[in-house]
Amino acid sequence: MLVDSRLFHIWKPSLHEVAAGTLDVHQEGLSYQMLAHDNGFTFVYGPMRALDPGQRLLTVGAINSEGQEIFPERRIRFDKLVIAVGSTSNYFGVPGAAEHTISLNATEDAERFRLTLLKLLTLAELNKENGVDVVIIGGGATGVELAAELREASGVYAAYGFRQLQAERDVRITLLEGAPRILAPLPEKVSDAALDLLRQRAVTVVTGTRVTAIDATSVRAGETVYPAQIVVWAAGIKAPDFLQTLGLPTVKSGQLDVDGTLAVKGFDHIYALGDCAACAGDDGKLVPPRAQAAHQQADYLLRTFLRQQRNQPPLGKPYIYRDYGSLVSFGQTTSVGSLMGSLKGLSWFVDGFVARMMYVSLHLMHHQAVLGTVRTAVLAVARFLIKRTTPLVKLH
Ligand SMILES: Cc1cc2nc3c(=O)[nH]c(=O)nc-3n(C[C@H](O)[C@H](O)[C@H](O)COP(=O)(O)OP(=O)(O)OC[C@H]3O[C@@H](n4cnc5c(N)ncnc54)[C@H](O)[C@@H]3O)c2cc1C
Repeated sequence: MLVDSRLFHIWKPSLHEVAAGTLDVHQEGLSYQMLAHDNGFTFVYGPMRALDPGQRLLTVGAINSEGQEIFPERRIRFDKLVIAVGSTSNYFGVPGAAEHTISLNATEDAERFRLTLLKLLTLAELNKENGVDVVIIGGGATGVELAAELREASGVYAAYGFRQLQAERDVRITLLEGAPRILAPLPEKVSDAALDLLRQRAVTVVTGTRVTAIDATSVRAGETVYPAQIVVWAAGIKAPDFLQTLGLPTVKSGQLDVDGTLAVKGFDHIYALGDCAACAGDDGKLVPPRAQAAHQQADYLLRTFLRQQRNQPPLGKPYIYRDYGSLVSFGQTTSVGSLMGSLKGLSWFVDGFVARMMYVSLHLMHHQAVLGTVRTAVLAVARFLIKRTTPLVKLH
């Protein structure tokens, strides 16, 4: 049984494309009900709200729409529970951040960004106003990918009725990063290449700066004030707050405290994986909140459950995170990143079209894991054809 507070699944690393309008969430989203039908599981629509670990009962909240209750609150009995609810924004107490910024945590956020941008572009076109200022806070993969995708998309909007729009003059993009360099966890060569690519795309990058306050029209970092009509918060994540109310152990970041087998400490029938789980490796460092970690953990738990089902002895070794490297997308034609070798610490720098093809193949591999090979191939061909009959950016 799969419980999710949304009806459609989307690969989260592609949310910056939804925000920029280059990916249509209504074409990309995979219906959980369809996946349940095809793969023999039950889908329960609604948010996890509460838990009774002793009684093995989960409470799923009601679903309301336009003031009407569509589904009531439900209680579900389980033998084993896996919590994989992802993460939410961490504003680190910056005044105005929660009220005046958009994050890319879910499809609704990405759609809100896209619609706000469309509205501002339309106003700028109608009133011949002074363009749009976008400030992105956080120079990690999310912020960098959004800045690049947005620059590419802003060039395309001019072809669809925004006749006055000159992308680089009228859509001004500023990326603010607290660390001395963008993409700080990745090798320096990747950061340097990413900085070059952003500068070529007329994105203003300011590093080593701390945002201190945000209001409806500007972002303040120390003495500097940046004008901003849209502000994106991509500066940090934390576990959803409700996890601390479940009666399960959590760590300082709010993530569930799990042991090496991904079982929540003190509960052998409750597991957690992905961004919401605090899993320490051999070196004591927490596994990073990344798609590849969530994917590996899901594989690990699948093997654990299959052994339990077959009454075989447990796996006997804990989950160990393996970093295969990182790829950062720069629009539809290029990417940059590093691939990790099997020897510890050895990595290869990749960029350009080859890196872009690797990035695209990661997205396809995710679809393959969810849909299977044949349907992924059909979907890829269908998308290729649909792109020839629809605008290059979503306009409605
Ligand atoms: C724009 C962007 C780019 C990224 N790029 C990369 C990248 O290049 N490489 C990389 O490794 N990682 C990347 N990440 C991070 C990566 O997406 C996450 O680490 C990964 O998705 C975590 O997987 P998860 O299963 O833990 O959570 P999620 O993928 O967030 O899934 C959580 C699910 O839980 C559901 N849910 C949430 N709360 C509830 C509730 N209360 N009840 C029921 N359901 C609930 C949500 O609807 C969602 O379906 C990126 C993230 C973003 C936003």
